Amino acid sequence: MSELHALFGGTFDPVHFGHLRPVEALAQQIGLARVLLLPNNVPPHRPQPEASPAQRVEMLRCAIADRLLFAVDIRELMRETPSWTVATLETLRAERGPQPPLGFIIGQDSLLSLASWHRWKDLLSLCHLLVCKRPGYAAEMGSPEMQRWLEDHLTADAQQLHQQPAGLIWLADTPLVNISATEIRQRRHQGLPCDSLLPPAVIDYIDRAGLYLK
Ligand code: ATP
Repeated sequence: MSELHALFGGTFDPVHFGHLRPVEALAQQIGLARVLLLPNNVPPHRPQPEASPAQRVEMLRCAIADRLLFAVDIRELMRETPSWTVATLETLRAERGPQPPLGFIIGQDSLLSLASWHRWKDLLSLCHLLVCKRPGYAAEMGSPEMQRWLEDHLTADAQQLHQQPAGLIWLADTPLVNISATEIRQRRHQGLPCDSLLPPAVIDYIDRAGLYLK
C-alpha cells in the first residue's frame, strides 16, 4: 500500500502556528507520511500579499527546517494562471498516477466556502479532503445541499483514507488555534510582539527582511 501524502495550500503571508499545529496533529491521527505546503499564486486583480512569492517560500522553509513531515512545493508559483487547487491536483495525479492515496488539507473556514472554488465538485475525484478545526467558524455547512454533500462523503475510519485514492472527507479532531496571518500582519504594523504566534525562525526572517513593518 502507498503512503498517504497530503497537500496544504495557502497564501502563507506569513506561515504561522495556526497552519502548523493542526496539521501536525492531523498527521499523527491519520498517519500522514508527508505534507507538501503549496504557497499559492495570487492573481494580479486580487489584493496582493505583503510578502513577495520568494519571501513567502523562504518563510515556509524557515518554518519547516526542523519539521520533517513537511516539504515546500512551489509549482503554483511557477504558473501564470490563478492557483486552482483542482488543476494542481490534476498535475500531481498525472505525475503520481491514479492509485496513491492523496489528501488535500483545509481549515474549517475553507470547507464552508468550498462551493466557491473552481470546479469544486471535481476535487473528491482527485483527493480526500482533510479538514482541520478553526475557531470561530460554524460546524454545519451553509445550505442543506452542501451539508448533504458533506455527509455523503464523510468517513470516521482513518484506514479508508489509506485504502482509497480519493473521495472521502475527514473532519479531524485538531486543536483549536486562534491565529490568522491577518492578525500577525496587523500586530507587526502596530509594533506588537508575535512570539507565540509563529516559529522563532520565521520571526527572525521577517525581522531580517524588514517585512510587515509599522
Ligand atoms: P489571512 O489571515 O491572510 O487570510 P490565513 O491565516 O487564513 O490568512 P491562509 O494562508 O490563507 O492563512 O490559510 C491557508 C489554509 O490554512 C486555509 O485552508 C485555512 O483554512 C487554513 N488555516 C489558516 N489558519 C488556520 C487556523 N488558525 N486553524 C486552522 N486552519 C487554518
